[in-house]
Amino acid sequence: MTRPVRVAEIDWTEYDRRVREERPVVILPVGSLEQHGPHLPMNCDAVIPTALSERVAARTGDLVAPTLCYGYKSQPKSGGGNHFTGTTSLDGETLIRMVRDIVSEFARHGVRRMAVVDGHYENNMFLVEGIDLALRGLRRDGIDDMRIAKIPYWEYVTQETMDAAWPEGFPGWPLEHAGLMETSVMLHLHPHLVDMSKAPDHPPADFPLYDIYPTDTSRVPWTGALSPSVAATAEKGERFVADYVDGMTDALIEIFGSRRQDIAAE
Ligand code: ZN
Ligand code: MN
Repeated sequence: MTRPVRVAEIDWTEYDRRVREERPVVILPVGSLEQHGPHLPMNCDAVIPTALSERVAARTGDLVAPTLCYGYKSQPKSGGGNHFTGTTSLDGETLIRMVRDIVSEFARHGVRRMAVVDGHYENNMFLVEGIDLALRGLRRDGIDDMRIAKIPYWEYVTQETMDAAWPEGFPGWPLEHAGLMETSVMLHLHPHLVDMSKAPDHPPADFPLYDIYPTDTSRVPWTGALSPSVAATAEKGERFVADYVDGMTDALIEIFGSRRQDIAAE
């Protein structure tokens, strides 16, 4: 039997023992429920960081908390926009409070190391605020040794993988919404959820530098994808995932002194 990495699948006595004796990093994946074009499911931003976190934790002996499957409002230039049917978002205040409360609860258990792994571009500063408010509250309660890393998984990619994936040039991470990277990664992780016959082949979206409110959706492609994904393959996805898992594992080792144990590998 392999050792579980999911907090929710461990009984409380074993969880309590692991927290006290092993001082694990608790990884919190945060995503969204957001349209990802006609060819991908709406849970991409949640299932991708979840799978990466679980693979990292299996290597290091750390733990993964249940994923936050809702995120901040989709923006036209990074997620197509919040007007799409299906996209289901939180107000910033709600997300901040969820992160603050979850971090505070893990601290109450005795956890002192956490990593928030973001899968949805728009969450960024709301995660920062939730972490900051949690740490402020903990300090006031006399707990001043909680350390939290915030990890944007998509940055952990090697230049060789980038060059192989985008021989004609990289469109930039915001325009990658439902694009080649997410589609390839989903083809590797969850191929049954991808329909490549519907993969968009329109050119990348062309946005002005400014933003307008109420949101101007006129430049958002009808598909909801911001760049083409017809060149996506499971092989490319496997390379991305390998880079991400390697990079995130190294980051945990660097930040927290996590050790490579390959506990669940067998
Ligand atoms: Zn996404
Ligand atoms: Mn997103």
